[in-house]
Amino acid sequence: MSDINTNKEEDVKPLNFLEEIIENDIKSGKLKTIMTRFPPEPNGYLHIGHAKAICLNFGLAKKYGGKTNLRFDDTNPVKEDTEYVDSIKDDIRWLGFEWANEFYASDYFERLYEWAIVLINKGLAYVDDQTQEEIRQNRGTVTVPGKESPYRNRSEEENLDLFKRMRAGELKDGEKVLRAKIDMASSNMLMRDPILYRIIHAHHHRTGDKWCIYPMYDFAHGQSDSIEHITHSICTLEFDVHRPLYDWFIEKLEIFPSHQYEFARLNLTYTVMSKRKLLELVKNNFVKGWDDPRMPTIVGIRRRGYTPKAVRMFAEKVGVAKRDNVIDLSLLEWCIREDLNKKANRYMAVLNPLKVVITNYPEDKVEEMEAINNPEDESAGKRKVPFSKVIYIERDDFMENPPKKFFRLAPGKEVRLRYAYFITCNEVIKDDNGEIVELHCTYDPESHGGNSPDGRKVQGTIHWVSIEHMETAEVRLFDRLFTEPFMGNIPEGKDYKEYLNPHSLKTATAFIEPELAKIKKDERVQFERIGYFWQDYDSRRDMLIFNRIVTLKDTWAKLNKQ
Ligand code: ATP
Ligand code: MG
Repeated sequence: MSDINTNKEEDVKPLNFLEEIIENDIKSGKLKTIMTRFPPEPNGYLHIGHAKAICLNFGLAKKYGGKTNLRFDDTNPVKEDTEYVDSIKDDIRWLGFEWANEFYASDYFERLYEWAIVLINKGLAYVDDQTQEEIRQNRGTVTVPGKESPYRNRSEEENLDLFKRMRAGELKDGEKVLRAKIDMASSNMLMRDPILYRIIHAHHHRTGDKWCIYPMYDFAHGQSDSIEHITHSICTLEFDVHRPLYDWFIEKLEIFPSHQYEFARLNLTYTVMSKRKLLELVKNNFVKGWDDPRMPTIVGIRRRGYTPKAVRMFAEKVGVAKRDNVIDLSLLEWCIREDLNKKANRYMAVLNPLKVVITNYPEDKVEEMEAINNPEDESAGKRKVPFSKVIYIERDDFMENPPKKFFRLAPGKEVRLRYAYFITCNEVIKDDNGEIVELHCTYDPESHGGNSPDGRKVQGTIHWVSIEHMETAEVRLFDRLFTEPFMGNIPEGKDYKEYLNPHSLKTATAFIEPELAKIKKDERVQFERIGYFWQDYDSRRDMLIFNRIVTLKDTWAKLNKQ
């Protein structure tokens, strides 16, 4: 039944604008199949925004029976590194996708060079001797047309000769560039004779010292798409002004007509997503590394304990927009709760303990209480939790002078200990400073298992651990990395680092039921009433460390009900 319903829902789900374009291309007979690509620059670790782009590119290809290439956009030798190449591949696989081919823009350097010569031969490119600064000044402004370079009308032979000498390493960095000859008065600044090649005498992580001229992004990207027969080249909105140039190269070179489509980049509240800023956080030790669980990087999200399914669900829910927007972080949190609610076993753990002595419980008695592992999944079964005379409860679950609506433990009040007994608080023990150190309670032996013996109701159910049987673990509790929701809107002159949340990481000791200490290293669990957790990479059997993936409270669902 539920399967049929899900399918129906999918059927009626409206197509996003990219799906519409693709379906039209297929229906009209223009295309039989599609080919997409994910084109990261290997200059940093991927973040959740990239995850969105990955899910989109791989997801569309999958839906329409096509394929996706992974292409490293490695045209800038100075910033790139193989460390990043490996992590990017790992992240994509973790998300559950496999690329058809692994390519590098640098694989195409020779072909791009030949295409530059084609443009020179057609009188559509020239070598310019102006300095970067002169080129910039002569480009004009949006309202003032640019000035043509005095070198713009060099002969074809001279251009060819100079360009070859650029490649041969006869010239110094910045001495000359190759430019397209388009229109210095174009209303699109990028069409004002854009630079195609610049001289950079630098070692490239793949081509080594073979090249000392490197193509600009615009001269590499579209042609790389074309070489790979990419049908739908999907990128973020800021590239829409590049599209005329993308099309110009394809038209003038008479090569496979790839098309570029733009969608809104993903922004998330309470975080930053530029690789430059993330690198800065790592380099300056504001976080403990790229995979710090507070980071919006995929490696960070992964170490935090997020599942690939939750991230894919998030990408799906965010959808594909044509206008920039900021997505609430609580949507991502909602997705992981949704996934884990069904599969995470429940355990009891106390983070901020208060000792409770059950005065009428026999001194040496131990009972194995039966607990349900997952109320959402019967097949998860049951387990035993040892119960004895002295236990810990959560300090917050007791109030000496409670307000009216406080349903947990208070002097003279009765609560249910989950899976155990009803207890009533009779006495509050304090130390010399007036701090509460212990509670004395009595239990009702008739309420075994936490069931009411006579139909009398208790309003609160609290969790506990038996002190004699418990184990300890370190828990890491994460909060938002920044205090400001809209990090894109911080005032001019303010540094984003001033908005770092000083309380984004808290560590505490958890007192945990014995079965919890035995779970598999990669098992995600719920600490009842506290959140979803899994073990950090540094956790060991004799020194357990749990990361809180997310709390149980769902602010996003609440916001959306309003
Ligand atoms: P950054 O600005 O963080 O350095 P980038 O855009 O330079 O990122 P690339 O490696 O060039 O990073 O990105 C690879 C692909 O991922 C590109 O197609 C880019 O459009 C896409 N992408 C990057 N950031 C986002 C985002 N926030 N939302 C959606 N897609 C993104
Ligand atoms: Mg980029």
